[in-house]
Amino acid sequence: MTAGESLLKLHFSDAFRQITRKSDLPEIHISFYPFAGLNHTIRLRRQQIYVRLSDIVRDAPASVHRALAFILVGKLFSKRVGTEYQNLYRQYAYHPDVQRKSDLARQQRGRKVIGSSIGREHNLDRLFARLNRRYFNNELTPPTLTWSARKTRRILGHHDYVHETIVISRSLDNDDVPEFLVEFVLYHEMLHMKHRPKLSNGRRVYHTAAFRADERRFDYYDAAMAELEKLSNRK
Ligand SMILES: [Zn+2]
Repeated sequence: MTAGESLLKLHFSDAFRQITRKSDLPEIHISFYPFAGLNHTIRLRRQQIYVRLSDIVRDAPASVHRALAFILVGKLFSKRVGTEYQNLYRQYAYHPDVQRKSDLARQQRGRKVIGSSIGREHNLDRLFARLNRRYFNNELTPPTLTWSARKTRRILGHHDYVHETIVISRSLDNDDVPEFLVEFVLYHEMLHMKHRPKLSNGRRVYHTAAFRADERRFDYYDAAMAELEKLSNRK
C-alpha cells in the first residue's frame, strides 16, 4: 500500500467515525476501478466496507479524497454531510480537465456494456427505421441502439450524446408491452437527436417547448401517455 492509499483509508475512517459516531471501525477496503465515467460505489457487507473509486480520482488532491470519503460514507448511512464537502467535490468533478477524462473513459470503456438491439419481442433497428421514415424524413443517422442490460423501471429510455447511443429499458421488451409504447419511448429519444439541449439561466433544458410539440405529433400519443401512466402506477 502506498502512502497515498493509507491516507485515503484514514479519510474514510474519519468519515465513518464522524458520521456514525461509532468508535469500533469496520474493515475498509478501497480500490480504484476503471469505471466508464466518474463513478464510485460503496457497500457494506458482513460488517466490512467496500469502496470502489473511479481511477480518474486516483491523483486528485487529498482534500478531494477527503470530501469524497465523507460524501460516500454519508450516502452509505443515509446521512447528510456538510455542503463544503459537496462543493469541494463538485468543483473538482466539473473542472474541464476532469470532465474530459470522464468523457474519454466513457467513450473508450462504455462500449463494452453495449448489448443488442434485437430483443425477445421487439427489434429496435426495425422500429428506428420506421420512425425515421415516418417522422424525420429519414434524416437521422442511425445511432447505436441497444436494450439495457438491466430491467430499469424508472428510466425507460436514454440518449447518450457522447456515444450516439440510444438505450431502451429491457423492461419494455415484453409481450405485454404494446409495440406503439416501445415506439413512443424510442421516438422520444430520437427527438433528443434532433433537438439539442438549450442553455437557460446556466441550466441545460432538454425538453424544450419545440421538443414537446414534436412529441405530440406521435400518432398514438394519447394512448402511449395512458400506457406510461399505467406503467408508473404498477410499481
Ligand atoms: Zn427526454
